Amino acid sequence: MSSILIFCRDCGKQVPSSQTRDGLCVECRVRRSVADLRNEHARLWRKRERYRSQNANVEQIGRQIARVEDRMGQRIKELVSNEREATDYLRKELEAARGQRYNIRGV
Ligand SMILES: [Zn+2]
Repeated sequence: MSSILIFCRDCGKQVPSSQTRDGLCVECRVRRSVADLRNEHARLWRKRERYRSQNANVEQIGRQIARVEDRMGQRIKELVSNEREATDYLRKELEAARGQRYNIRGV
């Protein structure tokens, strides 16, 4: 089966047209779909670090973070049918969330 290569209109990467929707590659669709959850994740993480530095109980925030991560995983699974790929994307998103956090903290 031959597939036409097109440029993703977000990241500009060349991808087979069969893997795109609305001109976006899978990676960009995943990133967009979890953007709000990633911000929420970063917010909770900062909150937890603040609480921890005050020796407050962080157990509840830890559970909230886990819930956000679950929701990210669910959204990614809706976009990526292959379970192994979905796990890879989730890992990447969580790493990105961590990077975002460090950027904010580094300011
Ligand atoms: Zn893209």
